[in-house]
Amino acid sequence: RQVLSKYFSQEIISKLEEEGVKSLYPTQLLAIKNGVLDGENIVLSAPTASGKTLVAGLAALKHLEEGGKVLYLVPLRALASEKYKEFKKFFGAFGYKTVLSTGDYDSADPALGKYDVIVTTNEKADSLMRHSAPWFPSLTLIVADEIHLLGTEKRGATLEVLLTRILMSEDTPQLLGLSATIGNLEDVARWLHAKPVKVDWRPVVLREGVYYDENIFFADGSTRRIDSLGNSVLSLTYDTLRESGQVLIFSPTRRAAVAEAKKVANISRKFVAEGSKRVLQEASRKLVSLHADKLTHELAELLLRGVAFHHAGLSGDAREIVEDLFRAGHIKAVVATPTLAAGVNLPARRVVITDYRRYNVELGYQESIPVMEYKQMAGRAGRPKFDKEGEAILIARSFEEVEYLFKKYIYAEPENLQSQLGSEPVLRSQLLAVISTDEKIRSMDMLEKFLGRTFFAQRYGTFGILPLARKNLEKLIAGGLIEEKNGVLNPTFLGKRIAELYIDPDTALEGIRLFKEHESLEVLGYLFLVSKTPDMTTIGVRRGDYEYLEEVLEDRGREIPYQVPQDEIEYEFFLSYLKTALLLEDWINEVPEDSIVEKYDVGPGDIYSLTQTAEWISFSLSQIAEILGFHEHSVKLSILSKRIAHGVKEELLELVALKGIGRVRARKLYEHGYRSIYDLAVADEKELLRIPGFGPALVKAIKQQLKSPVESQEEVEGERLEEAEQI
Ligand code: ADP
Repeated sequence: RQVLSKYFSQEIISKLEEEGVKSLYPTQLLAIKNGVLDGENIVLSAPTASGKTLVAGLAALKHLEEGGKVLYLVPLRALASEKYKEFKKFFGAFGYKTVLSTGDYDSADPALGKYDVIVTTNEKADSLMRHSAPWFPSLTLIVADEIHLLGTEKRGATLEVLLTRILMSEDTPQLLGLSATIGNLEDVARWLHAKPVKVDWRPVVLREGVYYDENIFFADGSTRRIDSLGNSVLSLTYDTLRESGQVLIFSPTRRAAVAEAKKVANISRKFVAEGSKRVLQEASRKLVSLHADKLTHELAELLLRGVAFHHAGLSGDAREIVEDLFRAGHIKAVVATPTLAAGVNLPARRVVITDYRRYNVELGYQESIPVMEYKQMAGRAGRPKFDKEGEAILIARSFEEVEYLFKKYIYAEPENLQSQLGSEPVLRSQLLAVISTDEKIRSMDMLEKFLGRTFFAQRYGTFGILPLARKNLEKLIAGGLIEEKNGVLNPTFLGKRIAELYIDPDTALEGIRLFKEHESLEVLGYLFLVSKTPDMTTIGVRRGDYEYLEEVLEDRGREIPYQVPQDEIEYEFFLSYLKTALLLEDWINEVPEDSIVEKYDVGPGDIYSLTQTAEWISFSLSQIAEILGFHEHSVKLSILSKRIAHGVKEELLELVALKGIGRVRARKLYEHGYRSIYDLAVADEKELLRIPGFGPALVKAIKQQLKSPVESQEEVEGERLEEAEQI
């Protein structure tokens, strides 16, 4: 109270108490001592759950009370929604409005200006800046959460440029970076003109150890004997559950996670509480009703036995069900891939890391995971308020490995963050973005100055990046995206639009090349183009895929606007583009989700992210075609992007525009003779109720929409998930 009373009114302090803040954590005290409430730029590095979010909360509150405006940046969409929910409640208690903005990259979202706290992903913030969002200059505090992700490929560089641009803006707002433990906190802080603040305090004590031959060897010198069940993971699981704890197991791959969860089920099923059985049955039924594929079915089965797997192949709603059940204690064990450690906050008393090695697909061999990743996983151990202490256990395969693991991970400091700006696709995208939105940066000199302000340059100077920048600038000039006249760089209309559309300039140039060569393409041709662009993630080709992919190539090769490459590696890429294009084609031809999952060996979560990206690329290409006068390409790509968004044939596009109507319901309506909005408007409600799956609430909602003006685009976008929830 004493510390806070220097900054806040008694009224605010009382409200804070009502919100559960009765005293401050050491993390918060230290941040305040270092001036976070006095407007100082700070980079705060502290373990998970040590109260970093509240540091941001207090700083934000201070700004809001003074009439300021806050931007809160996170690296992932899932995290953005998590924070949004938390902040809506927290700031709402003080009368401030919070908004979440993650979708549509092609908008300046002027409406966001009405809110006090804006939560967005780094990418969305970058896109808003490219659109010169009018409220950007009125921001007084910018919080960059998980700032250590600066060091991750691709996305790290986006954050780096975003922060550089903020640093170079006039009236730089206060900056607060929140980070996991990193090696070179000082460097990052210096770059941001901020004070480094490092906190080691954790709300729950963390004990790290290595398991080998029926014993856990802890870093504090103690050991714990574990009853052996013949398998390390099972023994450790049993040992945790029997003492009413929960266990979070990290497996290196999706496949391993599923297999491990099946093994664990034999143990966890004995620990399902009587009171949890019904909850689990309900959750299991809900899952199966949402998704009919094999993967989701396996998960639903496992839930009944008190365990789940968790990886990016699962749909977002399935993952959320797993997280909620674990938090509520209904399931006792979760086996996850390491992506979980970077995203959701899902602590458990014991964390087991089954393998410190990981297969690097690009390099083709096993490598050790970084210390930073180990620390992230280990940091999940210990549930605040539930556990006295948390344990993070690595598994050794030999006695020698015990010592090795201690040295390599437990006693080791996390690696230094490295700039990722050397990544060419990001660099060329960002060069275009900077030149097309920042009127001050219109010459090579200014560009050099800009690059000199990056984290990359702080470490290596600009000579490492300048040649790469020049090379890519020339490419942008040659492609007609930037014009150079007497040393002045100006974006062309096309270049500006490409920057706004938030696609890699190479994606656009590839499209333009094809538009010039062909008057029109088949649907598969467009889908192949989309799959081939650098913005698209493609799916890998397995040995068993060759036969059918080569058959398709034989039968339908003419629809693909590219020569089949001779080079073996390029050929492999070619087939993966084809496979991705075929998946998208099945999706827009209304092939059921479970069949796609089976045929392409992907999860529903993959289908979702692939289609989201593909929709965006085809929309962008359609816009570019329009600008350049390729009208037919533009129309076809525009229809295609809508079909991808909804997963339907063209004839259903009118119906899926309605809220609550997705691909499955639209098809049912169509089959029952309702083929347009008009048909529905004149339809008898009783008749509609006869269609299987159409209840009174849905029919009423449909009718209502037909009365009111067309709903906003945003609602239409949210609809695909919604249908899944309602079925
Ligand atoms: P981090 O952002 O460092 O991962 P959080 O801010 O999410 O950690 O804090 C973890 C938990 O601790 C949250 O449930 C939060 O409500 C709680 N917490 C943080 N600070 C305080 C405090 N001063 N008093 C009470 N609870 C707090």
